[in-house]
Amino acid sequence: MEVNCAGCAGCCIDWRALSSSDIDHERRGPREPLDDAYNLVPLTRDDVRAFVEAGLGDAMTPRLWEDEEGVEIDGTTLAAVGEKPAFFVGLRKPPKPVGPFDQPPNWLPTCAFLDPTTLQCRIHGSETYPQECAEYPGHNLALEAETECERVESAFGGERLLDGEVPEGLTGLLLGPGALGQKVFVHPEPDELEGVIERLREGRATDADRAEFVAWASASAPGTTSHSDDVYERTRTRVLETASWVGESIDEWEANAGSDPEPTLVEVIEERRGAPSTPGWSDASNG
Ligand code: SF4
Ligand code: SF4
Repeated sequence: MEVNCAGCAGCCIDWRALSSSDIDHERRGPREPLDDAYNLVPLTRDDVRAFVEAGLGDAMTPRLWEDEEGVEIDGTTLAAVGEKPAFFVGLRKPPKPVGPFDQPPNWLPTCAFLDPTTLQCRIHGSETYPQECAEYPGHNLALEAETECERVESAFGGERLLDGEVPEGLTGLLLGPGALGQKVFVHPEPDELEGVIERLREGRATDADRAEFVAWASASAPGTTSHSDDVYERTRTRVLETASWVGESIDEWEANAGSDPEPTLVEVIEERRGAPSTPGWSDASNG
């Protein structure tokens, strides 16, 4: 698998607003996400724990789905496992001024870790680099599903997916029951979700809402729907106390959205708070 990521970041940005095509691939199955995120990166339990340990617990957000065969919670029928609502944990996508695919800068929902000036990932190759990102688009190739690289090629031309061979040694391809407690998590106390569902749907989740799901994911046991209450309590407290450069800059990006879309805003919003720099394209081939 070889990809040409320079100037792209298509898998890190919600670029639907730049295209007239129907590219909303996440909303074509029987289950519809409550949120409106595009290309949510599903984190593994180990990824979630690594972010919490690194003091970046405020960078994550949950995804739940509507499913008419699921369980009704607070007036919404949610996808569930054994009557408990199922969820992913992904990375937050604040609006940032980005100009992918040689387009002029626009305010687009962008992964919290993407540098909007270099269009590179700030955590590439680090201990918190998510497994899904490290292996992207390997899982799509293994499942013979369209890749984001190909969607970008269709919309803007150029060559992005240079070699469609399935990479050897994929580790994060968790499917079916094998994903339970490792990538698909359950919330064990659905009665606590009153009001939360509506806030997730409207993009108004609070710090406490996000911390709750991050903590249950962290406390999950692989292959089961059980949890460690100790890990849940400790993680929830830690995430609620977290105020990282990511969480603070998300608030500021949201406050600035709609102003002149100037990528160099990143200097005052992310860099002065200590965001890691990116290497530039001469030393890296991947986003
Ligand atoms: S963590 Fe990095 S590679 Fe993954 S979506 Fe975010 S910016 Fe992109
Ligand atoms: S992996 Fe594909 S979609 Fe993502 S940045 Fe690289 S070329 Fe673009």
